[in-house]
Amino acid sequence: MDRTDDNGAADNGRRIAKPRATPPRLERAGAAERDPDLSVCGTCTAKFVQPIDWSLVGREHWRVTLRCPNCGWEGTGVFAQETVDRFDRELDRGTRELSKTLRRVTRACMEAELEQFVQALESDLILPSDF
Ligand SMILES: [Zn+2]
Repeated sequence: MDRTDDNGAADNGRRIAKPRATPPRLERAGAAERDPDLSVCGTCTAKFVQPIDWSLVGREHWRVTLRCPNCGWEGTGVFAQETVDRFDRELDRGTRELSKTLRRVTRACMEAELEQFVQALESDLILPSDF
């Protein structure tokens, strides 16, 4: 049976991290605060953080709401154009990697199905009455 936590999130046996109000990376001092890697989750360190909302603040900053699909963390922060540009390039790189993997898996599945079809034809398992 599923339960829900205080935030209404379902607990189906997996531990769900409670979202934090501010990105943890902003709480740290030093270079990471000034130029954080937005693709890395400050809670679980997974490199899957995605933007879910963004708006321009002034001329060179963006208010970006981020979400980690691995642990459920969400947070909003204001980041410099340079940081957001680097995040955008990382998202593009991830998209290309996913597309490449999708093409490879699709091709492997089609090859497996084709091989099975050929074997069925060679074994006379497919007859005109099948069509
Ligand atoms: Zn996370």
